Amino acid sequence: MAIERTLSIIKPDAVAKNVIGQIYTRFENAGLKVVAAKFTQLTQSEAEGFYAVHKERPFFKDLVKFMISGPVMVTALEGENAVLKHRDLMGATNPKEAAAGTIRADFAESIDANAVHGSDSLENAAIEIKYFFG
Ligand code: UDP
Repeated sequence: MAIERTLSIIKPDAVAKNVIGQIYTRFENAGLKVVAAKFTQLTQSEAEGFYAVHKERPFFKDLVKFMISGPVMVTALEGENAVLKHRDLMGATNPKEAAAGTIRADFAESIDANAVHGSDSLENAAIEIKYFFG
């Protein structure tokens, strides 16, 4: 299997809940390694740029507002099949639909405050890693 990199964000709700360590333990146990990290509070334009693909969606404004509401932990993770592995660990976008034992099922409150972001393809992973880490 290919060694890949993916972009992971612990969103403001999960940082506020003080579960960064619990979430990273899951990544570590799944064989995903942190290769770049940044604890930061996103600016409005950083958040808008990151989610630009969603700018016509009805939830865009609230999503940006939420993403800048507190600090986030941004990392690039590396490992076998990293993109899909990280998506599997996260669970479905809506925590009510997320499988038991996934990060969103265990830590997320709602579809908008859903604890984590993860790249959805290898192509987007490369774009998103570049966006945060150059
Ligand atoms: N989102 C939202 N309302 C929706 C759909 C999505 O607030 O109805 C937010 C949610 O935080 C989600 C993000 O927009 O994580 C990006 O949506 P996407 O469909 O790409 O989901 P993801 O890849 O994060 O599971």
